[in-house]
Amino acid sequence: MNTSLPLTVGLSPQRLQLQWPDGTVDLPAAALRAACRCGPCRARALRNEAAVETPVELAGAEPVGQYALQLIFSDGHDRGVYPWALLRELCAAAGPAPRPAAILASSNGSAVLIG
Ligand SMILES: [Zn+2]
Repeated sequence: MNTSLPLTVGLSPQRLQLQWPDGTVDLPAAALRAACRCGPCRARALRNEAAVETPVELAGAEPVGQYALQLIFSDGHDRGVYPWALLRELCAAAGPAPRPAAILASSNGSAVLIG
């Protein structure tokens, strides 16, 4: 398992941008919400229910020790803890960001830097 940390983490309401040593990837808020692995979200997934019916935005992010990022969503959901390994997998599936660093440059929200 690759447990390397991203170099930077950028946050905007629409997406999380992770800069890895080998590239930068944007993860849309909705995709992150759908990938939440907390108990209630897993239960919903098992019932084949959508995690959210309405568009959701990112409201915040907090590092959890050295192993994960906790994401806070605009719908009030703040139980989602995303291990870096999971985010790495999501990034691998998403592919490289079309416009690296655009978010950090234009974001009206906060940006967190880790490491
Ligand atoms: Zn959840």
